[in-house]
Amino acid sequence: MHTTTLNQTPMAMRLAIGFFGRTNSGKSSLLNALAGQEVSLVSAVSGTTTDPVAKPIEIYPLGPCVLLDTAGFGDETELGALRMKRTLEAMDKTHVALLVLAPDNEDFKEEQALLLALQKRNIPVILVQNQIDRIDNIDSRLLQVEKALSQKPLLVSAKEGKGLSLLKEELVKKAPADFENESIVGHLVKENDRVLLVMPQDMQAPKGRLILPQVQVIRDLLDHGAVVTCVTPAQLPAALSDNTPDLIITDSQVFPLVYAQKPAESSLTSFSVLLARYKGDIDAYVKGAAAVHTLKAGDKVLIAEACSHQPLDGDIGRVKIPNLIHKKLHPDIEVQVVSGNNFPEDLSPYALVIHCGGCMFGRRQVMSRVMRAVEQGVPITNYGIFLAEMSGILDKVVM
Ligand code: SF4
Repeated sequence: MHTTTLNQTPMAMRLAIGFFGRTNSGKSSLLNALAGQEVSLVSAVSGTTTDPVAKPIEIYPLGPCVLLDTAGFGDETELGALRMKRTLEAMDKTHVALLVLAPDNEDFKEEQALLLALQKRNIPVILVQNQIDRIDNIDSRLLQVEKALSQKPLLVSAKEGKGLSLLKEELVKKAPADFENESIVGHLVKENDRVLLVMPQDMQAPKGRLILPQVQVIRDLLDHGAVVTCVTPAQLPAALSDNTPDLIITDSQVFPLVYAQKPAESSLTSFSVLLARYKGDIDAYVKGAAAVHTLKAGDKVLIAEACSHQPLDGDIGRVKIPNLIHKKLHPDIEVQVVSGNNFPEDLSPYALVIHCGGCMFGRRQVMSRVMRAVEQGVPITNYGIFLAEMSGILDKVVM
Protein backbone atom coordinates (compact mmCIF):
# COMPACT_ATOMS: atom_id res chain seq x y z
CA MET A 1 0.00 0.00 0.00
CA HIS A 2 1.14 3.47 -0.69
CA THR A 3 0.70 7.08 0.05
CA THR A 4 -2.80 7.66 -1.24
CA THR A 5 -4.00 11.10 -0.19
CA LEU A 6 -7.19 11.46 1.78
CA ASN A 7 -8.68 14.03 -0.54
CA GLN A 8 -8.61 11.61 -3.49
CA THR A 9 -12.31 10.72 -3.62
CA PRO A 10 -12.59 6.95 -3.33
CA MET A 11 -14.35 6.36 -6.67
CA ALA A 12 -14.21 2.71 -5.65
CA MET A 13 -17.06 3.29 -3.20
CA ARG A 14 -19.41 4.71 -5.86
CA LEU A 15 -21.83 2.94 -8.18
CA ALA A 16 -20.16 3.13 -11.59
CA ILE A 17 -22.56 3.77 -14.48
CA GLY A 18 -20.87 3.22 -17.86
CA PHE A 19 -22.10 4.90 -21.05
CA PHE A 20 -21.41 2.73 -24.11
CA GLY A 21 -22.33 3.13 -27.77
CA ARG A 22 -20.99 4.01 -31.18
CA THR A 23 -19.29 7.33 -31.82
CA ASN A 24 -21.70 10.21 -31.49
CA SER A 25 -24.70 8.16 -30.43
CA GLY A 26 -25.20 10.94 -27.91
CA LYS A 27 -23.56 9.25 -24.91
CA SER A 28 -21.86 12.41 -23.74
CA SER A 29 -25.05 14.50 -24.07
CA LEU A 30 -26.97 11.86 -22.13
CA LEU A 31 -24.29 11.81 -19.43
CA ASN A 32 -24.47 15.60 -19.19
CA ALA A 33 -28.26 15.47 -18.94
CA LEU A 34 -28.07 12.91 -16.11
CA ALA A 35 -25.32 14.81 -14.32
CA GLY A 36 -27.16 18.11 -14.83
CA GLN A 37 -23.96 19.75 -16.05
CA GLU A 38 -21.38 19.74 -18.84
CA VAL A 39 -18.78 17.12 -17.97
CA SER A 40 -17.37 15.71 -21.18
CA LEU A 41 -16.62 16.73 -24.69
CA VAL A 42 -19.71 16.83 -26.87
CA SER A 43 -19.22 17.54 -30.54
CA ALA A 44 -20.75 16.83 -33.91
CA VAL A 45 -17.30 15.63 -34.97
CA SER A 46 -17.32 11.85 -34.90
CA GLY A 47 -15.09 10.33 -32.21
CA THR A 48 -14.52 13.41 -30.05
CA THR A 49 -14.47 11.34 -26.87
CA THR A 50 -11.31 9.24 -26.66
CA ASP A 51 -10.29 8.31 -23.12
CA PRO A 52 -13.08 7.53 -20.67
CA VAL A 53 -14.22 10.54 -18.63
CA ALA A 54 -15.27 9.90 -15.02
CA LYS A 55 -17.68 12.25 -13.28
CA PRO A 56 -18.62 11.67 -9.63
CA ILE A 57 -22.20 12.74 -8.84
CA GLU A 58 -25.07 12.00 -6.46
CA ILE A 59 -28.16 10.51 -8.08
CA TYR A 60 -31.20 10.23 -5.86
CA PRO A 61 -32.00 7.54 -4.66
CA LEU A 62 -28.88 5.70 -5.86
CA GLY A 63 -26.52 7.83 -3.76
CA PRO A 64 -22.89 8.45 -4.78
CA CYS A 65 -22.28 7.38 -8.38
CA VAL A 66 -19.56 7.85 -10.93
CA LEU A 67 -20.57 8.33 -14.56
CA LEU A 68 -18.08 6.84 -17.03
CA ASP A 69 -18.19 8.22 -20.55
CA THR A 70 -16.42 5.92 -23.00
CA ALA A 71 -15.11 6.27 -26.50
CA GLY A 72 -17.47 4.94 -29.12
CA PHE A 73 -17.01 1.96 -31.39
CA GLY A 74 -17.48 2.01 -35.14
CA ASP A 75 -14.13 3.41 -36.26
CA GLU A 76 -11.64 1.06 -37.88
CA THR A 77 -8.59 3.32 -37.73
CA GLU A 78 -5.64 2.74 -35.38
CA LEU A 79 -7.10 5.38 -33.08
CA GLY A 80 -10.39 3.50 -33.26
CA ALA A 81 -8.68 0.32 -32.04
CA LEU A 82 -7.21 2.25 -29.11
CA ARG A 83 -10.65 3.64 -28.30
CA MET A 84 -12.09 0.15 -28.35
CA LYS A 85 -9.36 -1.07 -25.94
CA ARG A 86 -10.11 1.80 -23.55
CA THR A 87 -13.81 1.10 -23.80
CA LEU A 88 -13.32 -2.55 -22.88
CA GLU A 89 -11.15 -1.46 -19.94
CA ALA A 90 -13.97 0.86 -18.80
CA MET A 91 -16.28 -2.18 -18.68
CA ASP A 92 -14.06 -3.59 -15.93
CA LYS A 93 -14.99 -0.59 -13.79
CA THR A 94 -18.70 -0.59 -14.63
CA HIS A 95 -21.46 -1.83 -12.30
CA VAL A 96 -24.37 -0.98 -14.60
CA ALA A 97 -24.17 -0.07 -18.29
CA LEU A 98 -26.22 2.18 -20.55
CA LEU A 99 -25.96 1.03 -24.15
CA VAL A 100 -26.88 4.18 -26.06
CA LEU A 101 -28.26 3.93 -29.60
CA ALA A 102 -27.88 6.54 -32.31
CA PRO A 103 -31.16 7.61 -33.96
CA ASP A 104 -30.52 6.34 -37.44
CA ASN A 105 -28.04 3.46 -37.83
CA GLU A 106 -29.22 0.59 -40.01
CA ASP A 107 -26.78 -2.07 -38.91
CA PHE A 108 -26.23 -2.96 -35.26
CA LYS A 109 -22.91 -4.81 -35.40
CA GLU A 110 -21.18 -2.49 -32.88
CA GLU A 111 -24.13 -2.60 -30.50
CA GLN A 112 -24.29 -6.39 -30.71
CA ALA A 113 -20.54 -6.61 -29.96
CA LEU A 114 -20.88 -4.23 -27.02
CA LEU A 115 -23.92 -6.05 -25.66
CA LEU A 116 -22.09 -9.37 -25.88
CA ALA A 117 -18.99 -7.98 -24.14
CA LEU A 118 -21.15 -6.51 -21.34
CA GLN A 119 -23.17 -9.69 -20.92
CA LYS A 120 -19.98 -11.76 -20.81
CA ARG A 121 -18.94 -9.68 -17.82
CA ASN A 122 -22.36 -10.07 -16.15
CA ILE A 123 -22.94 -6.33 -16.23
CA PRO A 124 -26.62 -5.33 -16.17
CA VAL A 125 -27.44 -3.34 -19.34
CA ILE A 126 -30.09 -0.70 -20.01
CA LEU A 127 -30.70 -0.17 -23.70
CA VAL A 128 -31.36 3.51 -24.42
CA GLN A 129 -32.66 4.90 -27.69
CA ASN A 130 -31.35 8.44 -27.43
CA GLN A 131 -32.19 11.46 -29.63
CA ILE A 132 -35.84 10.48 -30.11
CA ASP A 133 -36.38 14.13 -31.07
CA ARG A 134 -34.62 13.22 -34.33
CA ILE A 135 -36.66 10.08 -35.10
CA ASP A 136 -39.76 10.46 -37.31
CA ASN A 137 -41.27 7.01 -36.89
CA ILE A 138 -40.64 5.80 -33.34
CA ASP A 139 -42.68 2.59 -33.73
CA SER A 140 -40.72 1.39 -36.71
CA ARG A 141 -37.41 2.27 -34.98
CA LEU A 142 -38.48 0.30 -31.90
CA LEU A 143 -39.21 -2.74 -34.06
CA GLN A 144 -35.87 -2.41 -35.83
CA VAL A 145 -33.95 -2.23 -32.51
CA GLU A 146 -35.88 -5.05 -30.90
CA LYS A 147 -35.25 -7.29 -33.91
CA ALA A 148 -31.50 -6.58 -33.83
CA LEU A 149 -30.88 -6.63 -30.07
CA SER A 150 -33.75 -8.73 -28.71
CA GLN A 151 -34.94 -6.09 -26.29
CA LYS A 152 -36.89 -2.86 -26.29
CA PRO A 153 -34.95 0.32 -25.57
CA LEU A 154 -35.96 3.12 -23.22
CA LEU A 155 -36.88 6.20 -25.22
CA VAL A 156 -34.89 9.27 -24.25
CA SER A 157 -34.06 12.70 -25.58
CA ALA A 158 -31.12 14.15 -23.69
CA LYS A 159 -31.60 17.39 -25.63
CA GLU A 160 -35.23 17.83 -24.58
CA GLY A 161 -34.87 16.13 -21.18
CA LYS A 162 -37.42 13.45 -22.09
CA GLY A 163 -37.31 9.99 -20.51
CA LEU A 164 -34.67 10.86 -17.90
CA SER A 165 -36.89 10.06 -14.89
CA LEU A 166 -37.70 6.65 -16.36
CA LEU A 167 -34.02 6.09 -16.99
CA LYS A 168 -33.19 6.87 -13.34
CA GLU A 169 -35.90 4.44 -12.21
CA GLU A 170 -34.44 1.76 -14.43
CA LEU A 171 -30.99 2.47 -12.98
CA VAL A 172 -32.36 1.96 -9.47
CA LYS A 173 -33.88 -1.37 -10.56
CA LYS A 174 -30.78 -2.63 -12.35
CA ALA A 175 -28.05 -1.37 -10.00
CA PRO A 176 -26.56 -4.37 -8.21
CA ALA A 177 -27.16 -4.01 -4.48
CA ASP A 178 -23.89 -5.72 -3.63
CA PHE A 179 -21.55 -3.82 -5.95
CA GLU A 180 -19.15 -3.40 -3.06
CA ASN A 181 -18.78 -5.55 0.03
CA GLU A 182 -20.56 -3.50 2.65
CA SER A 183 -17.86 -3.63 5.25
CA ILE A 184 -14.14 -4.23 5.49
CA VAL A 185 -14.08 -5.62 9.02
CA GLY A 186 -17.75 -6.22 9.91
CA HIS A 187 -17.29 -9.98 9.61
CA LEU A 188 -14.55 -9.95 12.27
CA VAL A 189 -15.65 -7.50 14.99
CA LYS A 190 -18.61 -6.82 17.22
CA GLU A 191 -19.44 -3.86 19.43
CA ASN A 192 -16.86 -3.10 22.15
CA ASP A 193 -14.27 -5.53 20.74
CA ARG A 194 -10.76 -4.25 21.41
CA VAL A 195 -8.85 -3.89 18.19
CA LEU A 196 -5.17 -2.98 18.02
CA LEU A 197 -3.80 -1.53 14.78
CA VAL A 198 -0.07 -1.75 14.06
CA MET A 199 0.89 0.90 11.54
CA PRO A 200 4.57 1.63 10.78
CA GLN A 201 5.09 5.32 10.11
CA ASP A 202 8.30 4.79 8.17
CA MET A 203 9.86 6.30 5.05
CA GLN A 204 6.95 5.13 2.94
CA ALA A 205 4.31 6.75 5.14
CA PRO A 206 3.15 10.15 3.90
CA LYS A 207 4.12 13.09 6.06
CA GLY A 208 1.45 14.17 8.50
CA ARG A 209 -1.33 11.78 7.52
CA LEU A 210 -2.36 8.15 7.24
CA ILE A 211 -2.71 6.09 4.07
CA LEU A 212 -6.17 5.38 2.68
CA PRO A 213 -6.52 1.68 3.64
CA GLN A 214 -5.71 2.53 7.27
CA VAL A 215 -8.22 5.36 7.30
CA GLN A 216 -10.90 3.15 5.73
CA VAL A 217 -10.31 0.38 8.29
CA ILE A 218 -10.37 2.80 11.26
CA ARG A 219 -13.63 4.33 10.01
CA ASP A 220 -15.20 0.89 9.55
CA LEU A 221 -14.09 -0.22 13.03
CA LEU A 222 -15.58 2.91 14.60
CA ASP A 223 -18.82 2.30 12.67
CA HIS A 224 -18.94 -1.16 14.25
CA GLY A 225 -18.43 0.19 17.77
CA ALA A 226 -14.97 -1.32 18.24
CA VAL A 227 -12.53 0.13 20.78
CA VAL A 228 -9.60 1.05 18.58
CA THR A 229 -5.96 1.57 19.56
CA CYS A 230 -3.26 2.51 17.02
CA VAL A 231 0.47 1.98 17.55
CA THR A 232 3.68 1.79 15.57
CA PRO A 233 5.62 -1.52 15.82
CA ALA A 234 7.97 0.07 18.39
CA GLN A 235 5.06 0.69 20.76
CA LEU A 236 3.58 -2.79 20.37
CA PRO A 237 5.10 -4.22 23.61
CA ALA A 238 3.74 -1.27 25.60
CA ALA A 239 0.32 -1.63 23.99
CA LEU A 240 0.21 -5.34 24.84
CA SER A 241 1.52 -4.99 28.40
CA ASP A 242 -1.88 -4.15 29.87
CA ASN A 243 -4.21 -5.11 27.03
CA THR A 244 -5.15 -8.33 25.28
CA PRO A 245 -6.88 -7.23 22.08
CA ASP A 246 -9.58 -9.37 20.50
CA LEU A 247 -8.10 -8.60 17.12
CA ILE A 248 -4.79 -7.21 15.87
CA ILE A 249 -4.67 -5.68 12.39
CA THR A 250 -1.15 -5.05 11.20
CA ASP A 251 0.67 -3.75 8.18
CA SER A 252 1.63 -6.94 6.32
CA GLN A 253 5.28 -5.90 6.22
CA VAL A 254 5.63 -6.50 9.98
CA PHE A 255 3.60 -9.72 10.12
CA PRO A 256 6.39 -11.87 11.64
CA LEU A 257 7.26 -9.28 14.29
CA VAL A 258 3.62 -8.86 15.36
CA TYR A 259 2.92 -12.59 15.24
CA ALA A 260 5.89 -13.25 17.54
CA GLN A 261 4.50 -10.86 20.17
CA LYS A 262 0.76 -11.39 19.92
CA PRO A 263 -1.10 -12.96 22.85
CA ALA A 264 -2.46 -16.43 22.04
CA GLU A 265 -6.05 -15.18 22.58
CA SER A 266 -5.76 -12.37 20.00
CA SER A 267 -6.69 -12.99 16.37
CA LEU A 268 -4.35 -11.56 13.75
CA THR A 269 -4.93 -10.16 10.29
CA SER A 270 -3.51 -7.36 8.13
CA PHE A 271 -4.78 -4.37 6.17
CA SER A 272 -3.92 -6.10 2.89
CA VAL A 273 -5.65 -9.31 3.88
CA LEU A 274 -8.79 -7.35 4.77
CA LEU A 275 -8.59 -5.60 1.40
CA ALA A 276 -8.08 -8.96 -0.31
CA ARG A 277 -11.51 -10.02 0.87
CA TYR A 278 -13.14 -6.60 0.51
CA LYS A 279 -11.92 -5.93 -3.02
CA GLY A 280 -10.90 -9.24 -4.50
CA ASP A 281 -11.27 -12.99 -4.22
CA ILE A 282 -9.56 -14.17 -1.06
CA ASP A 283 -9.94 -17.86 -1.95
CA ALA A 284 -8.18 -17.32 -5.29
CA TYR A 285 -5.45 -15.33 -3.51
CA VAL A 286 -4.82 -18.03 -0.89
CA LYS A 287 -4.74 -20.69 -3.61
CA GLY A 288 -2.45 -18.50 -5.72
CA ALA A 289 -0.03 -17.92 -2.83
CA ALA A 290 0.82 -21.64 -2.84
CA ALA A 291 2.52 -21.05 -6.21
CA VAL A 292 5.45 -19.32 -4.45
CA HIS A 293 6.73 -22.77 -3.52
CA THR A 294 7.00 -23.91 -7.14
CA LEU A 295 8.73 -20.78 -8.52
CA LYS A 296 12.09 -21.50 -10.12
CA ALA A 297 14.93 -19.78 -11.98
CA GLY A 298 13.73 -18.17 -15.20
CA ASP A 299 10.10 -17.83 -14.06
CA LYS A 300 8.47 -14.42 -14.36
CA VAL A 301 6.46 -12.83 -11.57
CA LEU A 302 4.19 -9.86 -12.24
CA ILE A 303 3.68 -7.32 -9.47
CA ALA A 304 0.61 -5.19 -10.22
CA GLU A 305 -0.13 -1.94 -8.44
CA ALA A 306 -3.53 -0.36 -8.95
CA CYS A 307 -2.28 3.22 -8.71
CA SER A 308 0.84 4.90 -10.00
CA HIS A 309 2.76 6.67 -7.31
CA GLN A 310 6.23 8.02 -6.73
CA PRO A 311 8.16 4.98 -5.43
CA LEU A 312 10.18 5.74 -2.31
CA ASP A 313 13.13 3.87 -0.79
CA GLY A 314 11.92 0.53 0.49
CA ASP A 315 8.76 0.59 -1.65
CA ILE A 316 6.88 -2.63 -0.98
CA GLY A 317 6.02 -3.47 -4.61
CA ARG A 318 9.22 -2.34 -6.26
CA VAL A 319 11.80 -3.13 -3.59
CA LYS A 320 10.65 -5.27 -0.66
CA ILE A 321 8.68 -7.99 -2.46
CA PRO A 322 11.23 -8.36 -5.32
CA ASN A 323 14.03 -8.58 -2.72
CA LEU A 324 12.13 -11.22 -0.80
CA ILE A 325 11.58 -13.23 -3.98
CA HIS A 326 15.23 -13.02 -4.94
CA LYS A 327 16.58 -13.77 -1.46
CA LYS A 328 14.14 -16.42 -0.28
CA LEU A 329 13.06 -18.10 -3.52
CA HIS A 330 15.62 -17.71 -6.31
CA PRO A 331 17.86 -14.83 -7.51
CA ASP A 332 17.04 -15.64 -11.15
CA ILE A 333 13.30 -15.15 -10.94
CA GLU A 334 12.39 -12.19 -13.15
CA VAL A 335 10.12 -9.66 -11.46
CA GLN A 336 8.16 -7.14 -13.54
CA VAL A 337 6.14 -4.29 -12.03
CA VAL A 338 3.13 -2.62 -13.68
CA SER A 339 0.97 0.14 -12.27
CA GLY A 340 -2.32 1.88 -12.96
CA ASN A 341 -4.23 0.54 -15.94
CA ASN A 342 -1.22 -1.25 -17.46
CA PHE A 343 -2.37 -4.70 -16.48
CA PRO A 344 -1.48 -7.08 -19.37
CA GLU A 345 -4.24 -8.80 -21.36
CA ASP A 346 -2.02 -11.87 -21.75
CA LEU A 347 -0.81 -13.21 -18.42
CA SER A 348 0.51 -16.49 -19.79
CA PRO A 349 4.20 -15.46 -19.55
CA TYR A 350 3.85 -15.22 -15.75
CA ALA A 351 4.14 -17.97 -13.16
CA LEU A 352 2.51 -15.76 -10.52
CA VAL A 353 0.72 -12.41 -10.27
CA ILE A 354 0.99 -10.50 -6.98
CA HIS A 355 -1.53 -7.65 -6.78
CA CYS A 356 -1.55 -4.73 -4.34
CA GLY A 357 -4.51 -4.17 -2.01
CA GLY A 358 -6.25 -2.18 -4.74
CA CYS A 359 -7.58 0.47 -2.34
CA MET A 360 -8.01 2.91 -5.24
CA PHE A 361 -9.98 0.43 -7.37
CA GLY A 362 -13.57 -0.71 -7.18
CA ARG A 363 -14.26 -4.36 -6.48
CA ARG A 364 -15.37 -5.07 -10.03
CA GLN A 365 -12.08 -3.75 -11.38
CA VAL A 366 -9.97 -5.87 -9.06
CA MET A 367 -12.22 -8.88 -9.70
CA SER A 368 -11.86 -8.47 -13.46
CA ARG A 369 -8.11 -8.91 -13.02
CA VAL A 370 -8.59 -11.92 -10.77
CA MET A 371 -10.96 -13.42 -13.36
CA ARG A 372 -8.45 -12.77 -16.15
CA ALA A 373 -5.72 -14.60 -14.23
CA VAL A 374 -7.98 -17.48 -13.21
CA GLU A 375 -9.31 -17.88 -16.78
CA GLN A 376 -5.74 -18.03 -18.08
CA GLY A 377 -4.69 -20.51 -15.40
CA VAL A 378 -2.17 -18.09 -13.86
CA PRO A 379 -2.00 -18.08 -10.02
CA ILE A 380 -2.81 -14.69 -8.49
CA THR A 381 -2.40 -13.48 -4.92
CA ASN A 382 -2.12 -10.14 -3.16
CA TYR A 383 0.59 -8.44 -1.11
CA GLY A 384 -0.80 -9.36 2.32
CA ILE A 385 -1.51 -13.00 1.51
CA PHE A 386 1.88 -13.33 -0.21
CA LEU A 387 3.75 -11.84 2.77
CA ALA A 388 1.84 -14.03 5.22
CA GLU A 389 2.67 -17.11 3.13
CA MET A 390 6.34 -16.11 2.92
CA SER A 391 6.40 -15.64 6.71
CA GLY A 392 4.88 -19.10 7.18
CA ILE A 393 1.89 -17.75 9.10
CA LEU A 394 -0.86 -17.71 6.47
CA ASP A 395 -2.80 -20.39 8.35
CA LYS A 396 -2.64 -18.27 11.54
CA VAL A 397 -4.21 -15.22 9.91
CA VAL A 398 -7.95 -14.62 10.17
CA MET A 399 -9.52 -13.92 6.80
S1 SF4 B 1 -4.04 1.18 -5.00
FE1 SF4 B 1 -2.54 -0.39 -4.47
S2 SF4 B 1 -0.53 0.58 -4.78
FE2 SF4 B 1 -2.07 2.24 -4.68
S3 SF4 B 1 -2.12 2.83 -2.49
FE3 SF4 B 1 -3.75 1.31 -2.77
S4 SF4 B 1 -2.79 -0.62 -2.25
FE4 SF4 B 1 -1.06 0.83 -2.59
